[in-house]
Amino acid sequence: MILHLHKTTTQAQAQQLAESIQAILIKQEQFVLVTSSRVKVVPEEAVAFTEKSFPTDTDIQLAGRGYINAVREVNLGNGVVIGGTTNHTALITGPCSVESETQIEAAAELCVELGVKIMRAGAFKPRTSPYTFQGLGVEGLKLLDKMRNKYGLAIITEVRDSTHVDDVIAYSDIIQIGAKSMYDHGILRKCGQTTKPVMLKRGFGTTLQEFVQSAEFILSGGNSNVILCERGIRTFETKTRFTLDLCGVAWLKQYTNLPVIVDPSHAIGYAYGVADLSRASVAMGVDGLLVETHPNPKVAKSDAEQQLNFEEFRNLHASLGKVAEAVGRKIV
Ligand code: PEP
Ligand code: MN
Repeated sequence: MILHLHKTTTQAQAQQLAESIQAILIKQEQFVLVTSSRVKVVPEEAVAFTEKSFPTDTDIQLAGRGYINAVREVNLGNGVVIGGTTNHTALITGPCSVESETQIEAAAELCVELGVKIMRAGAFKPRTSPYTFQGLGVEGLKLLDKMRNKYGLAIITEVRDSTHVDDVIAYSDIIQIGAKSMYDHGILRKCGQTTKPVMLKRGFGTTLQEFVQSAEFILSGGNSNVILCERGIRTFETKTRFTLDLCGVAWLKQYTNLPVIVDPSHAIGYAYGVADLSRASVAMGVDGLLVETHPNPKVAKSDAEQQLNFEEFRNLHASLGKVAEAVGRKIV
């Protein structure tokens, strides 16, 4: 249950109450307490302090439609907004990894050419093998920051473990928590302590309930700027790398208040299907679309098979506007 306390409640009173009813305390314009969803009536000691209460069926609480019946707006602060009532699908592109200044600058120039305002690339790569390229680390973050300043792009990059969350916060506009880190509580809790927007990817072996409950760790830490990203789940199918769960996307749109981004690149794992899946996602009215692109995918140091070359991305980009228009949206 979520409790909004009266604005006159002091910090000391709110803290004491949180302890006595075993709730998490969040400071917004007013104090907010979140107890387990098993609590169905306002606890007796909280009645006098409570302005409004929101009982919930499950521990999808702050992210649930029963609490906020709208899509939250995540403002990147440079004129880019994701979600809310914008009715647009924000494009995000860039290579899987930052590999060199020339490569990332080519990616930034592609964004500028097509009016894409958010560039994504990894500097800390959580690879499935320790013997492959692990990313340029802080040097990669600095290259991204250079592109951000030179081209005015918003930057999204991944945090691999909680030791470098602060670096990622300093050099990015959105922190990406990858599929393999969806359960990393060190990362989740650190991301809850900042107000920097966070894009949380769904673990490929997790249910929607588990996915959104991970987002609750960030929201209940006090960070309301959370975006969900569906990037494919593991099924019995092996012809494609993962299976893009568009049913899941429909569910997230129906039952949560968080903006939803789809990443078709990691879902299918092969470039040939990325354009079709992108159009399908835009037709569903998603808040964002993340597509990996590389100036020369064949030589990419990670995810070579799924990245689109620039010509392929230009063609995809040219087709998305009409799909968005057909469902009353715009591509930005
Ligand atoms: C990535 O975005 O490059 C990545 C590693 O994705 P995921 O966490 O979805 O596997
Ligand atoms: Mn990748």
